Amino acid sequence: MLAVKDINVYYGAIHALKGVSFEIKEGEIVTLIGANGAGKSTILKTISGLLKPKSGTIEFSGDAIHGKVAQEIVKRGMSHCPEGRRVFANMSVEENLELGAFLRKDKKGIAEDLEGVYKRFSRLRERSKQMAGTLSGGEQQMLAMGRALMARPKLLLLDEPSMGLAPLLVREIFNIVEEINQSGTTVLLVEQNANMALSIAHRAYVIETGKIVLAGAAQELAASDEIKKAYLGG
Ligand code: ATP
Repeated sequence: MLAVKDINVYYGAIHALKGVSFEIKEGEIVTLIGANGAGKSTILKTISGLLKPKSGTIEFSGDAIHGKVAQEIVKRGMSHCPEGRRVFANMSVEENLELGAFLRKDKKGIAEDLEGVYKRFSRLRERSKQMAGTLSGGEQQMLAMGRALMARPKLLLLDEPSMGLAPLLVREIFNIVEEINQSGTTVLLVEQNANMALSIAHRAYVIETGKIVLAGAAQELAASDEIKKAYLGG
């Protein structure tokens, strides 16, 4: 579904991604793990068209998408749920969700998906008229995920969905990510919480200072001494 080949990305003089290549097959949950500043968010931003690679290629469902604008990539079925939630604080929950579907014209499908989001996140239904800026951190995370789902993506990019959440809520968010995947959406997940990410992912890539240094089945990586020492707290 997604093939990233040898991409190089710079922020001015900073060489943030150094020849990154990886792929995602339809139906998978793939996770990128790595320390702060390794380049995980940069990878997501490059795939979704927010950053342009200086070289390399990105194919999505067989089409080259590197160099295309973000809106064009959303239309092809990719949705990016960014780090830090970024909901529109002065708009209601429902208005935020509707914005997630702004490129769609199928009113009936949009209404079905809104209902689907409310089913999955019942808190959002209860708070549909509340201003998004007054939601709790966990509720804002749910809203950001719900908004991304309103684009009806084939591939969902999730950047640090567990950031700043209490442990119980982290589990709930990860359960929801699994459910979203089981209902047919392929997921690329970036996480600091490597334990949790590896517990739901099929495969994982480890990023260090802009390079992929290790790849494998999530269960295998979770069992490796090297990974345990570096990323799973011993
Ligand atoms: P974290 O887990 O802390 O979010 P990350 O792995 O997602 O980290 P990135 O945000 O992708 O890391 O950052 C990769 C590198 O690029 C870092 O060294 C960071 O300082 C740098 N960087 C990111 N955004 C910019 C920017 N807008 N301008 C300059 N450098 C940047």
